[in-house]
Amino acid sequence: MEKISVIVPCYNEEEVLPLFYEEMNRVAGLMDGYDFEYVFVDDGSRDATLCVVKELAARDQRVKYVSFSRNFGKEAAMFAGFTYASGDYVAVMDADLQDPPALLPEMMDAIKNEGYDSVATRRVTRKGEPVIRSFFARCFYRLMRRISKTEIVDGARDYRLMTRQFVDSLLSLSEYNRFSKGLYGWVGYRTKWIEFENVERAAGETKWSFWKLLLYSIEGIVAFSAAPLAIAAVTGILCCLLAFVFILFIVVRTLMFGDPVAGWPSMICVILLTGGLQLLCIGILGEYLAKTYLEVKNRPIFICKESNIRENDR
Ligand code: UDP
Ligand code: MG
Repeated sequence: MEKISVIVPCYNEEEVLPLFYEEMNRVAGLMDGYDFEYVFVDDGSRDATLCVVKELAARDQRVKYVSFSRNFGKEAAMFAGFTYASGDYVAVMDADLQDPPALLPEMMDAIKNEGYDSVATRRVTRKGEPVIRSFFARCFYRLMRRISKTEIVDGARDYRLMTRQFVDSLLSLSEYNRFSKGLYGWVGYRTKWIEFENVERAAGETKWSFWKLLLYSIEGIVAFSAAPLAIAAVTGILCCLLAFVFILFIVVRTLMFGDPVAGWPSMICVILLTGGLQLLCIGILGEYLAKTYLEVKNRPIFICKESNIRENDR
């Protein structure tokens, strides 16, 4: 029988896990003809998440878990899930039921009968989300569409069902700074998009602060576009051209009218402007350099503290 692995990144999800397990089981019950495996990745939770997962594992042998030595972030958790999952098909979904497991049969159908390699989901509304957050999210996707060659879809969730081949391709991208929404697009294959209305969290609260999301979006931009570097260079060239015209103007003016000393305020403005621009460009450069630095260190993406999956089981 073919096996579906369901990867669930969990960070402080003790409240919602029992609900998730129940709902997931209900859906798994509907899909006879498939074996299931649930890979819970405990991303260094500080609450009882690991205990809850261990209890589930004691009752149900389909429940597998991997527990990190600290919080490594959702991207690392998903990567660990891909590494440990042994299914013929692999699904990633959030623990908070914002990615409805009930969509799974439909997704499976698209892979089986319509010949897709992966089925992705996007939410068409952002109902229940803070307005400012939605606004910035939308700006981010619009910007990404302009400056990146890889397709990154607005409202795309990480919720996805993939074939083994697709997952193996993802695993072959071993970069440290992972931005899955881009990686999914980068590996290619045929992807079907399913749309659904935003669902609010079943319990607990969101783990993403505005700040964390902002840093994550910068990661996305740096990982999938070199446009900021080009913009910096073009701005530099424009400034030089402007300065050149200005120099000509001043030389001509001095030759014709002499040189009364004036213009101190305007000079300060120009100095501040160019100084600021230089710092900005160095900052952009530094961002790429920092990412490269982290990448060449070649550190592992996650560290597993304990797990009930034996290495040779994978
Ligand atoms: N998550 C994680 N590590 C983190 C932050 C989040 O594994 O550092 C998991 C979290 O447990 C959840 C999923 O990622 O299963 C999505 O997080 P959340 O629901 O808080 O994000 P939101 O839906 O609000 O964007
Ligand atoms: Mg959520």
